[in-house]
Amino acid sequence: MHSLPQEPDMMEDHLRIPNKKKRKKSNKKKNGKWVGDKVGREIEDFACYATKIHDFSRMAHQAKDSRKRAQIKAPIIFIVVFFGAFFSMVSMAQLDHWLKSKVFARFIPSRFRLPSHDTVRRALQKWDLDIQRQQHQEIVICYKEQKGPKKGSIDGLRVTAIDGVELFHSTAYKCKDCLTREKRDGSTEYYHSIVVAQQVGGGANIIYDWEMRKPRDGQDKDEGESTVALRLIKSLKEKYGKITDVYTLDALYAKAPIIEAALAAGSHVVIRMKDKRMRIMQRGHKEFSERSYDHFWEENDRRGNSIYVQAWEQEGLTDWDQVSIPLRLIKIIRHTTKTIIEGNEKVQVTDITEQWLVTTYTKTEVKVQTIARIACERWEIENVAFRNLKTFNHIDHCFVHHPVAIEALINFQVMAFNLKRMYFYHHLSNFRSWDIQLREVINEMREAARWGKLNLCRWLWKWGLCVL
Ligand SMILES: [Zn+2]
Repeated sequence: MHSLPQEPDMMEDHLRIPNKKKRKKSNKKKNGKWVGDKVGREIEDFACYATKIHDFSRMAHQAKDSRKRAQIKAPIIFIVVFFGAFFSMVSMAQLDHWLKSKVFARFIPSRFRLPSHDTVRRALQKWDLDIQRQQHQEIVICYKEQKGPKKGSIDGLRVTAIDGVELFHSTAYKCKDCLTREKRDGSTEYYHSIVVAQQVGGGANIIYDWEMRKPRDGQDKDEGESTVALRLIKSLKEKYGKITDVYTLDALYAKAPIIEAALAAGSHVVIRMKDKRMRIMQRGHKEFSERSYDHFWEENDRRGNSIYVQAWEQEGLTDWDQVSIPLRLIKIIRHTTKTIIEGNEKVQVTDITEQWLVTTYTKTEVKVQTIARIACERWEIENVAFRNLKTFNHIDHCFVHHPVAIEALINFQVMAFNLKRMYFYHHLSNFRSWDIQLREVINEMREAARWGKLNLCRWLWKWGLCVL
């Protein structure tokens, strides 16, 4: 058994903060390749950041699983799976390929063996999830202390979206935590699904927390998304104190207990409304149809299209039973003028969209323009961040179909997603000016890890390897 010195010296003089001036110089791109003598610097800088700011080396050191007489220890598996997720692996086969093609060679001290993908699978099935959750929590607490939620606020309000993400489905194999649903042809499909709380606004959009939907117990139904959202709102408050001023929720979550839970946690809600049968909506339809809009303004979307917005609002509504405070109903109509190519000609068209919102904010607390912005950014999250989780981070791929391994892998994906985005969008203030997609930088980092002259172990193994 090997053992490295156990005493970390976190305050060493040579710990360097990434030098921004130098980075700018060394990151020039030429013909699609990074040039300069510092190729691969980013992955080293990231490792330095992760250990210096988030104590990443200690997290690796703490990692545990309950395999008996394991030859390859949990900290090594931790580093491999974390960076597999960081580099957006699509499958275990790809991880295996990376393991064989020396992608991880510089992440692990050379006297230790790299695991096979089977070893990774076995370890994940026995992973210690409590420690892992604790580590996730520490990362988010650190983000909060660094004023991350405030930095990404919308008109000064910290906003969080809650939404469901389906992971993967199968008709062939079922584990004990699978949810079930009947398909149209009468066959049964098994799937896993989570509910995620994610920051809205700013660039980082980190995931504050997530909860697994639990399967039916006896005759009961599978746990619904709104029940899980309720749990999430309560646990966010317990874990992080007040991390958000307002929750934005889709129509699926338009339920009195959720509004009450948010209020009890000291936050507000902005909820999209669709159900026209609800009394509050019926009243809104009647009142708003009888008068002209209360506000109008013009704005531009991210593509520069001009939008003409009309808004109606009514506060003090008590038509929603079980909600303890009066609500404010808002109707927004957006006229977006854009240019499209039809045949060979440019044509201007106007898209008209209608949106109904309910909020617990009064008119004097938050103006209607801000509520509209919150709802708009929420839609961005749905289209950018949740999709990003699926397409670039492959959260919907089944790596190992086993209840513990699924949870362990989501935790790794979330941890990698958060640290990646905190590094690029929160820590590096000038990343947007690089004018390059994050995905491309990550690919460059992976290649640099394979070929560059790097000293990653210096950062990743500051706490040594645990020998249990
Ligand atoms: Zn399952």
